[in-house]
Amino acid sequence: MIEIRTVDQLHVDGSRVFYRVDYNVPLEGTTITDATRIEETLPTLRLLRERDAAVVLASHLGRPKGQRNEKFSLKPVRATLAELTGANVQWADDCIGPEAEQKAARLKSGELLLLENLRFHAGEEDNDPRFARALQKLADYYVNDAFGASHRAHASIEALPLLYDLEHRAGGLLLAKEIEFLQKITEVSDRPFVALLGGAKIAGKIEPLEALVKRADTLLIGGGMANTFLAARGVNTGASLVDKESIEVAKRIATSKIVLPVDVVIEDSSVVDVAKGLTEKQKALDIGPRTIEKFAEVLKKARTIFWNGPMGMFEHQEFAKGTMAMARAVAEADAITVVGGGESVEAVKESGYADRISHISTGGGASLEFIAGATLPGIQVLRAS
Ligand code: ADP
Ligand code: MG
Repeated sequence: MIEIRTVDQLHVDGSRVFYRVDYNVPLEGTTITDATRIEETLPTLRLLRERDAAVVLASHLGRPKGQRNEKFSLKPVRATLAELTGANVQWADDCIGPEAEQKAARLKSGELLLLENLRFHAGEEDNDPRFARALQKLADYYVNDAFGASHRAHASIEALPLLYDLEHRAGGLLLAKEIEFLQKITEVSDRPFVALLGGAKIAGKIEPLEALVKRADTLLIGGGMANTFLAARGVNTGASLVDKESIEVAKRIATSKIVLPVDVVIEDSSVVDVAKGLTEKQKALDIGPRTIEKFAEVLKKARTIFWNGPMGMFEHQEFAKGTMAMARAVAEADAITVVGGGESVEAVKESGYADRISHISTGGGASLEFIAGATLPGIQVLRAS
């Protein structure tokens, strides 16, 4: 069990708190197209402001690679944050230096100061202790809710909290919730535990896949990932997306716990039996109706479900049926349900079933690393003992 110190244990009254968030929001120009990541921080912000803390907010956005680049400015977040909190939100054009220090020093209880992108400084990704010390000047306490960045040993995630003693650093409510639910997947108590996996490739997901093979009772595999497993079993996958480099891995982890599609939808929307195989030019782009039924049957009996990876090329409506049907089956199951991953989360939101999922993880890569059993630096530094 991982137990971290949480924000409610800190005596922040009347103090300044450095709040590391993940406001890496999708932008079209300067318009935020999805404010979920800002909304997710509202509970912690409310708690801090109720306790009369002044909050200095810091985040990364995109990959400016250590240089100032207006395209990756956090400025567009300011108005949305003010609107959602009703607070006075101030702005500092640089996350360190005299302007940020003066504004932080003058910040009153309940006020917020949003800092410019941390990654405008190379020190952030370098985990540079000097950069961390410059950030430390802004606040008396440190709180981290940036779960999606906590698998990175970056200055605001690792070096900075280490400059605060245990009484002055903690995880926020969002981070605590992530750990609580992901731990239900790593230390399963309610079985059957079913892992529903898909997406493009196996590559990049080998460790979580192996960890799930050990822990899950059944693994339902669809999407591009299934093609690779089918190819490993000698099925003719035609022109389907197959992660050739991972065929050996797929052979190695073969187990009777793995359930693969029995039919697939190809590019002209017709259904092909997997037993028959695909012709050279055919491409599997979704799971077929018999597979949907088979997977849904297994999900119905599950008590714990973890889902990562869409069942097909769901971005095209013709190939979204399998993914949408799984979203529904996961939502309707009488189980603890956790969804993690970039496109998987998008798909669940599109399906309209998001509010019936126990936990939608905010960190794609971080949630998979957690499930694989990796020690995440940002969580490690917040452990209670
Ligand atoms: P996540 O971001 O949830 O971890 P991935 O990044 O692994 O998921 O995969 C998502 C992508 O996989 C989607 O863009 C989807 O179009 C693609 N995909 C899923 N199944 C197939 C398939 N059969 N053929 C081609 N692409 C697929
Ligand atoms: Mg992805």
